[in-house]
Amino acid sequence: MLYRTLGQTGIKLSVLGYGTKYLPESESKGKRWISIDNSIKAMHRSFELGVNHIDTSYLYNNGLSETAISQVLKNWQEKIYIGTKAPTKLIKKPGDYRKYLEEQLSRLNVDCIDFYYFDQVDYQNFLLINKRTNWIKEAKKAQKEGLIKHIGFSFNAPPEEMKLMVDMKLFSVISCSYNLLNRKNSIAIEYAASKGTGIIAAEPLAGGKIVLLPNKFRAEMNPSARNNVELGLSFVIANRCISATLCSMKNLEMVEENIFYTADSTPITKEQLKNMNDYLDELQEAADKICKGCKYCLSCPQEVNIPYIFELYIDHQIYGLKDYASQMYSNLETNSEFTGKNALSCFNCGLCSQKCPLNIEISIKLKEAHKTLSPYYQEIKKTELKTKRKRK
Ligand code: SF4
Ligand code: SF4
Repeated sequence: MLYRTLGQTGIKLSVLGYGTKYLPESESKGKRWISIDNSIKAMHRSFELGVNHIDTSYLYNNGLSETAISQVLKNWQEKIYIGTKAPTKLIKKPGDYRKYLEEQLSRLNVDCIDFYYFDQVDYQNFLLINKRTNWIKEAKKAQKEGLIKHIGFSFNAPPEEMKLMVDMKLFSVISCSYNLLNRKNSIAIEYAASKGTGIIAAEPLAGGKIVLLPNKFRAEMNPSARNNVELGLSFVIANRCISATLCSMKNLEMVEENIFYTADSTPITKEQLKNMNDYLDELQEAADKICKGCKYCLSCPQEVNIPYIFELYIDHQIYGLKDYASQMYSNLETNSEFTGKNALSCFNCGLCSQKCPLNIEISIKLKEAHKTLSPYYQEIKKTELKTKRKRK
């Protein structure tokens, strides 16, 4: 396993960390539980093979994740660094930050959390919430008392805002998305690293999308990569501003595969990295013509999830992720975990196009996207209709 120092913390992290966003669940007596046996085996194996940090959140697996992890860590002698995230949306008044921190310490069964993140914050919101809750003062106090080792934030906002957050000089670690298909944080990451902030890259395989990329992408980018897992992980690790990456690993097979391709891959040369970035720039240019993902068009009166629909359209048209994009599109309106409506709900009011910096004729483009992405959705609707008719 390769280890890198995390910013100015002095901590050496394994480049591969254990993400726990998708721990497998099972149902028993009407309740959902984490399949603890499988998760424990997979975590233990990863620690045996050199992984030395694990990341979770108050909210993962409906609040079950931290307790599950504590069961693994109690049997582990070596130091495993723990990162977890405060539940930003639940922190509404002074004292809430402290209340959740104490609950998380108790769930994890530890006296101190190594990396405690403000979760999914952007600069303005962070300050607004601070006015209401005084959470910066509470975080500093908790750190002074030894309950938190390092204060961090996890991030999914426009990259410029990461710089503003770094300049607050409050944070020693950032967890943010970075991978082949999402390089928008590259410059902000470089800036943060230059200021001594440790960077942990989340979603190195873009939530599994990179594994599904057609082979021709690998052949264009890095023919020596043996599969897409190696392609994706070696790209992230090649960025020297990144200390570690977090892979969500559901089972033993995933652990062993990810560790094998992290430890055994030939490092990408500077020239290879340049070729990869040049190729990705070309694809990005084509994608940007469809939509830049800025989200200025949100707040459609019909709740059409415009940026997500266009993201899927790009996955389909530019990255060849046809089945994936179509399946995900079918989740809008058929799966309650997905927010927003699909393109059929658009009634052409034109409000969104007025806000779009690219002047995209959004309602027309949505129709195009729907036509391309809807096969799975139409199948689901047909089945629903048949079931209804049978019942009658
Ligand atoms: S044109 Fe369609 S997508 Fe845009 S705001 Fe109006 S209803 Fe929503
Ligand atoms: S405003 Fe335009 S570019 Fe931005 S997400 Fe919406 S459609 Fe895409």
